[in-house]
Amino acid sequence: MSPQRLVMARLEIEHIIPISKNGSNDESNLWLACPLCNGYKCDKTTGVDAETGETVKLFNPRTQVWSEHFYWSDDGVRIVGKTATGRATVAALHLSEDADALEVRSYWVLAGWHLPED
Ligand SMILES: [Zn+2]
Repeated sequence: MSPQRLVMARLEIEHIIPISKNGSNDESNLWLACPLCNGYKCDKTTGVDAETGETVKLFNPRTQVWSEHFYWSDDGVRIVGKTATGRATVAALHLSEDADALEVRSYWVLAGWHLPED
C-alpha cells in the first residue's frame, strides 16, 4: 500500500470557511475530511459548475443535505453532482477523478461497506 493510500484512512479536521478567509474554529465551521478531499479543497469556498459556467459556493455539509446535491454512480465509486453546487463541489474536490479515491471506494463496495443506506 502506498503512503498516499495509508493517509486516506486518517481523517483531518477541515475548516469549511478557511481561517485565511476569516473562518472560525467554532464547531459549526469544522468537518472531518479525508486528506485527499481536504488537499483539493485547500482554501476554496467556491467552484465553477461546468454545466452553467456559474461560480457557486461549495457544498456545506453543516447546512446542506448531501442527497439533495449528489448521488452515487451505479458502481458506487463516483460521486455525481445533481445541482450547480454539487457539480462544482465534485469538480473542485476531484471527488470522481482521483484514482486513489476511486480504487479505495471499489474496495469498500467489494467489502459491502458501501453504498451507505441513507
Ligand atoms: Zn475524501
